Amino acid sequence: MSAVQLRNPATEQVIGTVELASLAETDAAIERAHRAQPAWAALAPADRARLLRRFAEEVEADAEHLAHLEVTNSGHTIGNARWEAGNVANVLNYYSAAPERLFGRQIPVPGGVNLTFAEPLGVVGVIVPWNFPMPIAGWALAPALAGGNTVVLKPAELTPLTALRLAELARRAGIPDDVFQVLPGKGTVVGQRFVTHPAVRKVVFTGSTEVGKQIMAGCAAQVKRVTLELGGKNANLVFADADLARAAAAAPYGVFDNAGQDCCARSRILVQRSVFDEFMALLEPAVLGVVVGDPNDPATEMGPLISAAHHAKVSSYVDGLVPVAIQGKVPDGPGFWFPPTVLTPSSARDRTVTEEIFGPVVTVLPFEDEAEAIALANDTDYGLSGSIWTENLGRGLRVARGVQAGNLSVNSHSSVRYWTPFGGFKSSGLGRELGPDAVAAFTETKNVFISTEE
Ligand code: NAD
Repeated sequence: MSAVQLRNPATEQVIGTVELASLAETDAAIERAHRAQPAWAALAPADRARLLRRFAEEVEADAEHLAHLEVTNSGHTIGNARWEAGNVANVLNYYSAAPERLFGRQIPVPGGVNLTFAEPLGVVGVIVPWNFPMPIAGWALAPALAGGNTVVLKPAELTPLTALRLAELARRAGIPDDVFQVLPGKGTVVGQRFVTHPAVRKVVFTGSTEVGKQIMAGCAAQVKRVTLELGGKNANLVFADADLARAAAAAPYGVFDNAGQDCCARSRILVQRSVFDEFMALLEPAVLGVVVGDPNDPATEMGPLISAAHHAKVSSYVDGLVPVAIQGKVPDGPGFWFPPTVLTPSSARDRTVTEEIFGPVVTVLPFEDEAEAIALANDTDYGLSGSIWTENLGRGLRVARGVQAGNLSVNSHSSVRYWTPFGGFKSSGLGRELGPDAVAAFTETKNVFISTEE
């Protein structure tokens, strides 16, 4: 068995080591999950619901501890980390209502009675990236468990601590050991085994588009169900008729939150040419006002990047070839810090505009009219989120319908609300998480016809 060293991204100090699961351990865990699944599915719906609510209560009671683990392991600001722990509890509570409402349908047919049932899939494998370890785990595990499935979950190599703690809290809530298991490990070992092991009947993968494509191809061999939540290169469209002061004040938070390590980051700001200069003048103080520093300080708005390797990747996009219009400051000393940075490339084909940087770097480009705004927003393989700033309601709706992305917001940068569906168009993913229908992604529809003929 090998181990991985974990580092605090804000201090570069080693905070511990975590053992990585081997292939044999992964197989054993999957087999235990497989054996545990029928009993979990056979629990009375109210009992499964009660266990999920207890799990939510344990998460709520432990929220401060979970939040501090995330600050230390991932460099998230304490404000964000508290929200993330709360999100897990909210999502568990929301889907705890599902077991008692897993309705089928009675469909009128001749010669008998026709019923449908929502049957569990079996074992669900969840593969989580490092950027939002807690919420992304919760979005899959809560509806999967509610649907009567057992779950094996692999956190990212760099950020396993909160997932391991969630498994302890599940135990404490009374969820049987093998119903929800967390397996820290390598993507190529543990994650890949979720894809190839025949007892895993669905894989939920959140991560890069490149790996997501391999997962989808691998799952095809067993016609395995798959949900993919992949990358994004999202547009923030600012029209001349917007409340420009509001749009400019909000823009940094739409992209620099979590140091830009957010698949929903609005990393392409597109501004109507007639107000371009005015917008840039308003944007400057907003960008320079973003508080970058110690993630433990509640006033901090942006922390460090996750690792030295990721810092090198983000830095490679600010290479002196594209003009830097605005750049904030970072603390001195250790830590994988990168300043909030605004680029003004000359072309929409520049790689800073087309590639997901996944750091606090945003490009600003002008557009002439509504048609060009939509065309530029859609000029990407991705399609996850986007924002439209305008005081014209008709335009807001028209443009939202025109942008090929799963999650649009008008006069807001909000993407994730657990009550509403979340997911991507095009290369940003396949399937939807969250919202009222998420449990359907973890069940199969079974149709049963009962003849009433003599
Ligand atoms: P990544 O694809 O490198 O890794 C994601 C997870 O997959 C990790 O747990 C990793 O260990 C595992 N993995 C890697 N190779 C694997 C393989 N061959 N088989 C099985 N599992 C494997 O991504 P990352 O760098 O950790 O995360 C950043 C990416 O995630 C960004 O592209 C970002 O946009 C995306 N993301 C998307 C969403 C969304 O909801 N759409 C949310 C967060 C992050």
